[in-house]
Amino acid sequence: MLKYRDKPIKEPLHLFKVIKIFFLKNTDLKDALQPKAQKILSLINGIDGIIQNITSSVCINCTDICCKNKHSYYELSDIIYLCLIQEELPTQRNDLLEMEPCQFLSKNGCILKRYKRPFRCNWYFCTDLINFVGEYGKRQGRTMTDTMQLIINTRNEIIETFFEYINSSQNTNIQLTKVIIETTS
Ligand code: SF4
Ligand code: SF4
Repeated sequence: MLKYRDKPIKEPLHLFKVIKIFFLKNTDLKDALQPKAQKILSLINGIDGIIQNITSSVCINCTDICCKNKHSYYELSDIIYLCLIQEELPTQRNDLLEMEPCQFLSKNGCILKRYKRPFRCNWYFCTDLINFVGEYGKRQGRTMTDTMQLIINTRNEIIETFFEYINSSQNTNIQLTKVIIETTS
């Protein structure tokens, strides 16, 4: 039985294309999961302003920016989510060193819209950010943490349903299984 495994994928394009085709052929799965992916999209957009306020106050003074290239890689759950919201995978370079500045980092911050970033970029809060959230306002802090938890739960539901589906004998897809194993092992 194929199991989900978190792993940053350095060359995700082939996997992205295979999953996209899989959803085109398995519209029952796509229809079941798309509302959940849309919910994640609107939840992320809903807290975008709060996160932006926090990061723009704290990150601007940071002397050790955490946006390294090794964090720019998508995981399988990110790829499934992007396929479901019908967004393309950002073009990725694979010639950069892991600890070089992230390929999506500009002088004005990340060039990717928040809902398209690898999810780890959205949930990661360094100590300075966490401390700032404490001072920033209890209500906003609570909204943000509750929303993050809801997003995590919904992502887990998507992954569980996706794997249940591809592991069921009638939906077995050799190509998809092979590519998932190759890219996440
Ligand atoms: S999240 Fe923290 S470590 Fe990363 S850039 Fe902002 S202040 Fe620096
Ligand atoms: S937030 Fe953007 S710039 Fe920072 S690591 Fe993630 S993708 Fe790269």
